[in-house]
Amino acid sequence: MFEKLSLPVIKESIVTINGTTYALATIASPTRNQLLVAGNVEGFEGKIRDDGTLLGPLSAENARLLRQRLPWLQPVVLGLQTSAGFGDRLGIATPGHVRAIRPTNVAPIFAQQSVRENTRTGRSPQEVLDDAMWGAFQAGWYAPWGADADHMKTLADIEPFVAAGYTFYTIDPGDYVDDAAETDDDATLAAKVAALPWNDLQSSLQQATERYLKRFDLGDLSLAFDEHTLHKALAKYGGALAHTARMTQRLKELSGRRPFEMEISVDETGTTTTLLEHFYIASELQRLNVPFVSLAPRFVGRFEKGVGYIGDLEELERNIAGHASIMRFFGNTYKLSLHTGSDKFEVYPLAMRHTAGLVHLKTAGTSYLEALRLLASYDTTLFRSIWDFARSRYEIDRKTYHVSASLERTEPASNLTDEQLPDLLNQFDARQVLHVTFGSVLDTFGPRLRQVLLTNLPAYYDYIQRHFERHLKDFQKGETLSGSL
Ligand SMILES: [Zn+2]
Repeated sequence: MFEKLSLPVIKESIVTINGTTYALATIASPTRNQLLVAGNVEGFEGKIRDDGTLLGPLSAENARLLRQRLPWLQPVVLGLQTSAGFGDRLGIATPGHVRAIRPTNVAPIFAQQSVRENTRTGRSPQEVLDDAMWGAFQAGWYAPWGADADHMKTLADIEPFVAAGYTFYTIDPGDYVDDAAETDDDATLAAKVAALPWNDLQSSLQQATERYLKRFDLGDLSLAFDEHTLHKALAKYGGALAHTARMTQRLKELSGRRPFEMEISVDETGTTTTLLEHFYIASELQRLNVPFVSLAPRFVGRFEKGVGYIGDLEELERNIAGHASIMRFFGNTYKLSLHTGSDKFEVYPLAMRHTAGLVHLKTAGTSYLEALRLLASYDTTLFRSIWDFARSRYEIDRKTYHVSASLERTEPASNLTDEQLPDLLNQFDARQVLHVTFGSVLDTFGPRLRQVLLTNLPAYYDYIQRHFERHLKDFQKGETLSGSL
């Protein structure tokens, strides 16, 4: 259809449906993609060319119309499939994500940004979803994919994500998690429990006591609440569950009949989620009719940004096995979510084995780090500026993240040769410094960084593919979920 065009059409994107052909073409200087439509061009923004084809921008309106014409470009719910979420702070990495996930049977979430990330990058939920959609279209992805409204904390966070058509809503009630309960004395716990918003919990202390103050036999594990551990669980997570119930109510109102799924994340809290607490949370979510398909507890040890697991791996394995037993007790109706999941290569096989594949992997910042890895080889001058700037911002920008990198263990750019620069992306401290400073870096260097990437896109996709192939290889299931249960 487009053979005679003088434009470089991206082959993987070409698709014909109902007599109309759609594709992306790459325009040089400045490098950008444009939408080509041949056939029924009605409604699309752009210019009609001499041959009758339309060439238009990757605008919100064209994205909306294209989703209507090509329904597989709409995100959908993914249910209990083993899945992976790829945050993409620059909005250009999706074709690389597609290349990494295509040979696997893992279900992808291509659009995934938290409210915090959107604030720092200045992108809207709609822009994030559209960028991912254009990437999926470019790479010729026809299978289901999801869109994650990540770490929503307040009622006001929800609406723009629903309006944009997200399908996976991650509720983070962390502001209502009371970490102090971990060390409170019994009198303080009793007072806190009495003051819980029992109305929102559609329950009472007496009912909660009747329901939980006993022993639960989970087959390979036995869990027993006593008054102290029950009050601690209630005081610590009761307010968070009430908030989750309110968030769910709002989400149901706004979504109407559109299907959606939810994840509850308490991973970014100050204390570990004990097995008893996981049990209490999951049980309450079911009782409150929260349609959750995924739960992100805070595991033992430390999951920090962009680096491997920190802690005792055997202890973590026992911990994950316990979480998995609880999931089975509740009918295997949700996945165990690994937040801050990038680079935890030692954790993936454990999670897959114990949950029989009921896992969601969530990675947020590593596509950005791969962009910097490319930069360290392709534009050392710009990389040096970014590296020194990131070091100057680290102590400020690290505040809302779980990181432990120390600036003293890093060197300014002037102490490094060009050959040493790419290796910064392999070093613990440097990775974290670069990881958490993305907002400030993009504010200052975003357009220049983007330009380098746009002129080297095939190389960037290679970096992304290589990086995520390493992540996804342990998520291959040897047998089907039903076959292994
Ligand atoms: Zn998280």
